[in-house]
Amino acid sequence: MTDSRHTRVLIIGSGPAGYTAAVYAARAMLAPVLIQGLQPGGQLTTTTEVENWPGDTHVQGPDLMARMEAHAAAMGAEIVSDIVTRLDLSRRPFVAETDSGARWTADAVILATGARAKWLGLPSEERLKGFGVSACATCDGFFYRGQEIVVIGGGNTAVEEALFLTNFATKVTLIHRRDSLRAEKILQDRLFRHPRIEVLWDHEVIEVTSAGEPPGVTGVRARHVRTGAVTEVPARGVFVAIGHAPASELVQGQLETHHGGYVKVEPGSTRTSVPGVFAAGDLTDHVYRQAVTSAGMGCMAALDGSPRRRPGRARRQNRAAAPQHGRHSAGARPIGLNSRAGRV
Ligand SMILES: Cc1cc2nc3c(=O)[nH]c(=O)nc-3n(C[C@H](O)[C@H](O)[C@H](O)COP(=O)(O)OP(=O)(O)OC[C@H]3O[C@@H](n4cnc5c(N)ncnc54)[C@H](O)[C@@H]3O)c2cc1C
Repeated sequence: MTDSRHTRVLIIGSGPAGYTAAVYAARAMLAPVLIQGLQPGGQLTTTTEVENWPGDTHVQGPDLMARMEAHAAAMGAEIVSDIVTRLDLSRRPFVAETDSGARWTADAVILATGARAKWLGLPSEERLKGFGVSACATCDGFFYRGQEIVVIGGGNTAVEEALFLTNFATKVTLIHRRDSLRAEKILQDRLFRHPRIEVLWDHEVIEVTSAGEPPGVTGVRARHVRTGAVTEVPARGVFVAIGHAPASELVQGQLETHHGGYVKVEPGSTRTSVPGVFAAGDLTDHVYRQAVTSAGMGCMAALDGSPRRRPGRARRQNRAAAPQHGRHSAGARPIGLNSRAGRV
């Protein structure tokens, strides 16, 4: 352990929640430190068009996130290219250790580590993400107006996505690898009654097909789980709806979670079960999972984490517990607005 520094507010994660928290905390003169993690910019960097970020009719996901990073840095947040590997919330100040060997102590921690959609793991699916393959109907359904769509999955999410996508699609085919759905009965009833939804039972998708350059999805190839017979289903959009996993490993056993690992917060706030620790964005949200809701929670977390709203908390000034020189080495350095070099 070569490096130890103290910060009043440590933000973990660089998606919309983390960067918004950084903007608010920096403007509150809390000199926040934000650790970006393995995916600087978060989930939106994996998509192309975003059409529901207020103020932008069209924006590319990676561009939007680069702007958020620039905004947070311009307000004075220190943005660090590193990954938190261990977090100790049992003592004060809180302690975070990182991949580069740095050690941070913090009066308050804002967790914004997001969530990950579960994917099928097919090479064609990976290649076509953002070009017709999506895991978010709310985000991308609008792009498939008047087209045929495939939804993959059998739980509540899959059925809800299929029903929602009928607002745009001429036909929705739900493909499920079993002969019955796990979704709630009322959702199943709606699904079966819908004239534009068809279910392909007992099939697993083995390939997403495409044509052109840049590629556009043309459909899927699905194999019957017992006979092995392959069926081709035409579609311009493929929505994988087999679940989400919150990135809550760092706080497992330290914070209360629910709904399969989402960090539990007090209703109407971002306060977790440990005072001084706040959680925002997809990490806490198994319902909305949007950039704008995550950003909103990031704002709330910075306000909740402000000493003014934490009566009794020591208003410590940032203090460096290690010599300044070398503290940004080995990946744990603040990065410039345009600097992408040295990212983990
Ligand atoms: C393909 C796709 C398209 C989407 N399209 C839209 C859209 O059009 N509109 C919309 O509103 N929403 C869209 N979404 C959803 C949106 O991206 C998410 O709701 C949003 O990004 C969640 O923000 P977040 O800040 O909570 O976390 P995330 O964006 O998930 O970011 C999490 C951050 O935490 C960091 N992190 C994780 N673990 C650690 C660690 N140990 N140490 C340090 N950092 C860590 C990661 O590096 C990452 O930076 C889309 C999602 C996907 C996957």
